[in-house]
Amino acid sequence: MQNPFEAAQIHEIVREGLAQVLGSSVDEITPDATLVADLGAESLDLVEFRFEMETKLGVALPKSNVLDLLATALGGSEQLYDERGGISELAAEVLRRSAFGYSEEQVHAGMRPYEVAAAATSAHWASFTHAIFDHLPATCTECGADKAELAVSGKAVCAGCGAALEAATGDEVMAEGVRAALEAIGHAQPVG
Ligand SMILES: [Zn+2]
Repeated sequence: MQNPFEAAQIHEIVREGLAQVLGSSVDEITPDATLVADLGAESLDLVEFRFEMETKLGVALPKSNVLDLLATALGGSEQLYDERGGISELAAEVLRRSAFGYSEEQVHAGMRPYEVAAAATSAHWASFTHAIFDHLPATCTECGADKAELAVSGKAVCAGCGAALEAATGDEVMAEGVRAALEAIGHAQPVG
């Protein structure tokens, strides 16, 4: 099924959710504002934001992060960090190719993992959340229809019968993104 959301729609929902959680106005949540440094989000705010998004959209946002999944895919984290604990060029490249859509300015080799986490903006979360809806089932398990639409509730439903649709989880989308990035870079992965 095709993604029933436009990227801008998801970004609007993400901005509204952040504004609500942070007690700020939607106008303050600009695409470039980092959630932690610019908007002052604390970890509890981010937990609440995740819950808001998951409830509103009926999705599971990732519980892992890209670096951990990359370590799993490579069978260890030796290639991910330099001797000072900064991320390697390989790690930076995989992060930039992830569905978060980091630019070279935002994520580069030598950054510490906490700096990568702190670089996240509403645009990154919108981009990732939108990508989750690129992973809807091929057809509805209830009626076999192959088209999704948005219900009045704002959730993605089957256009044939209105059944709720379950997209892949954020962790699945992230793991697939890591595999695809490694393949695109031409990096050999362990067999298995
Ligand atoms: Zn259906």
